[in-house]
Order: sequence, then C-alpha cells, then structure tokens
Amino acid sequence: KTTQRLDKILAHMGFGTRSELRRLTKSGSISVNGKKIKDSGIQVNPQIDQITIDGEPVIYREFVYLMMNKPQGVVSATEDNRDRTVIDLLDPAYLSFELFPVGRLDKDTEGLLLLTNDGKLAHNLLSPRKHVSKTYFAQVEWEVGQAEIEAFAKGVTLEDGYVTMPAELAILRSGSSLEQIPAEIHLTIKEGKFHQIKRMLQAVGQKVVYLKRISMGPLQLDNELALGEIRELTALELQALQ
Ligand code: URA
Repeated sequence: KTTQRLDKILAHMGFGTRSELRRLTKSGSISVNGKKIKDSGIQVNPQIDQITIDGEPVIYREFVYLMMNKPQGVVSATEDNRDRTVIDLLDPAYLSFELFPVGRLDKDTEGLLLLTNDGKLAHNLLSPRKHVSKTYFAQVEWEVGQAEIEAFAKGVTLEDGYVTMPAELAILRSGSSLEQIPAEIHLTIKEGKFHQIKRMLQAVGQKVVYLKRISMGPLQLDNELALGEIRELTALELQALQ
C-alpha cells in the first residue's frame, strides 16, 4: 500500500489519537508538502509526501527494532496479569508501534531479546525450519566435561522423550562438585523448545543456576547495555538480520 490515511500514519507513530490529530489539523499545525491541511483523513504516501507538525518534519517509519538486555523478573509477553512484562520497560514513545518480543526468555533468564513490530522478520527468526542459532551463557551445578560435549553434539533425550538436535557446548570453566564451583558454559542450540537449555542440562543430570542469552542468529548482545537497557538496532545489525 503506497497511500494511507494521514491520521492513521501519525497515530501509529505516536503523534496522538485520531481526534487529537483532528484538533491539530484544525489549528493549522499539520502540513503536507508545505501546505496546511484541512482534513486529517487525507490520503498521503508517507515515503514521498513531506509531513510536518508545527514545522517539524515527521520522519516516517513503519517498523521498529529494539535490542533489550532483559533483566530477571520480567516476562517475555506483551501483557500479563501478575508480572511486569518486557513491554513495561519500554519508553512510552514506543507504545504506539505495538512491539512484541521475538521469542521468549524465561522470567529468570537474562540477556538478548529483540522487540519489533515486523512480523515477517520475527517469523524468519523463529521458524523451526530456519534453525537459527541461539547461544546462551550458563552457570551449571556443578561439573561439566567431555561427556556433556559429546552428549549434546549427538542430541539428548528430554524428559518428555523429545530428542534434541545437535548442539554445541563450549566449556569456559569446568566447575567442581567437590568444591561446589559451578561450571560456566556456552551452549548453542538451533531450535527453541520450552525451557530447552534448562531441560537439556537436566537430561545430563545438571542444573542451570544462571542463564543469559548472548546471541540470536547474527545478532549479538551489546556488552554496553546494562540489564533492563534498550537500544535501537544499528543499520548494520538490521542488515545482517535481513
Ligand atoms: N532455554 C531455557 O531453558 N530458558 C530460556 O529462557 C531460554 C532457553
């Protein structure tokens, strides 16, 4: 669709409700291609027509892409009756875009979460057929070694009988049950079953005590983002995802 109602475009971008936009139009605040408009419902092409509000150009965009370093204690949903959601962490200026999280992290999992309103991109990242890699950092009680590397490389059987696809385990610290030092690992999976990382470790007799996602496909968690912080994807990151 090349043309759309002006009030719809502006409402989507967070410039107000349709009735607020009608008022702004009456007071002569909104211009299209340099001319004050009288009807906020006119058809415009947002890619071509130049829209200004009180002389300020409106930079049109349909899609928004945000990277969040998800903290513990919030759920990866748009609404929840009990818990705070990742949407509650957004600057209210983003609310009109109707963003949603691409996939889910558990309430107690931290790290990389992409939020967007681009359903096609989300589908491509989540489709089980695309086998997009996700890498997690985990602390595990207690020892992890060569046996686990081999087990995950072959695929392990979860408690419900599902056999996981081959996954790559890298050991950062092997840990010690004797001294009660948790192992530290990177585990890369190419699917996304419910609680998959925790259940894979459970399948080899281990328990995850801390979990953080550090990458999803070509997207890496920005180390500069503190827990709970959010930023827009860069042009390069977006290009890599497309
Ligand atoms: N695997 C899990 O067990 N939890 C997550 O949040 C993500 C992957």
